[in-house]
Amino acid sequence: MDIHKLVRENIRRLKPYSSARSEFRGEASVYLDANENPMNAPYNRYPDPLQEDLKAKIAKLKGVRPSQIMLGVGSDEPIDLVIRIFCEPRQDNIVAIEPTYGMYQVCADINHVEYRKALLNPDYTLDAERLLAAADGHTKVIFLCSPNNPSGNLLDRDAMRQVVKGFGGIVVIDEAYVDFSSEPSWLTELERYPNLIVLQTFSKAWGLASVRCGMAFAAEEITGYFNRVKYPYNLNLLTQQFVSEQLDRASQTQEWVACLLARRAELAAELALIPRVQKVYPSDANFLLVKVTDANALYEELVSRGIIVRNRNHISLCAGCLRITVGTEAENAALISALKD
Ligand SMILES: *Cc1c(COP(=O)(O)O)cnc(C)c1O
Repeated sequence: MDIHKLVRENIRRLKPYSSARSEFRGEASVYLDANENPMNAPYNRYPDPLQEDLKAKIAKLKGVRPSQIMLGVGSDEPIDLVIRIFCEPRQDNIVAIEPTYGMYQVCADINHVEYRKALLNPDYTLDAERLLAAADGHTKVIFLCSPNNPSGNLLDRDAMRQVVKGFGGIVVIDEAYVDFSSEPSWLTELERYPNLIVLQTFSKAWGLASVRCGMAFAAEEITGYFNRVKYPYNLNLLTQQFVSEQLDRASQTQEWVACLLARRAELAAELALIPRVQKVYPSDANFLLVKVTDANALYEELVSRGIIVRNRNHISLCAGCLRITVGTEAENAALISALKD
């Protein structure tokens, strides 16, 4: 597969902005090249546009090469960039599972790229044939999300493989919740599939949603385009340094995940005993999709008690459902006590 042939022509021909920091790489004693204020170190200096120190740490942790990593302002940035790099507005289209994370469609709409929804089965499993049938010669990107938001389940690996192998364009697998799941990441398959992009984030298991740092992993052909199209200094110094420090405390993240998985099991068991709860769907993420007798009314009742969950009642295949994030023991208890009342 020739990735370059999938790329929009203007992007293939793009002469990227050459920043001061990328034109001179290395160590010097006097920097007079970027019109920075010489005072107020270290914040006076533009940050590393390719985040090399941070990528080296992430590469080690994830078992990939630094060159296979693109870092973004959340994973929302690479979602947008994938569409901008591969999809010609008003001509190309993308296909995604439905229901899923809302940002794929928003980014497609902003870029004036047709967004095609391929319904999951009613039990939220993936029908690879149906998904592939929604694609045509103008489909450049397919979005999969596993574990999926809002359904919470992992998609079947063989069905996903059928998509990655059977589609002649880019396949994005969004693994925002992979740290909570029982199955390994698709990162180990990067070498085998040149059209695969895996997204992960520091916003969930790492507890860093406010810091805004997301990861895209792909073959160098693809990360090369990401690096040329993104804003040169997309990740500020504070974010780069802070995430780097957090990576030294990866064991804490593991402890949080173990704790949240225990909380998830408790919460699911308690929810199942509530009369207004009809079904608690199995989850591989840090939230539960819960079917209730009257979602809109229950949502409003919880709001009136200061408890906010996500009302997914209007989403395809999610009629009657609320999406509930697993909180602390006290937060979960407050929810359960409100529901029992
Ligand atoms: C929360 C979430 C993200 C994370 O987005 P960030 O921009 O990294 O905070 C990505 N994908 C899905 C499916 C999510 O639910």
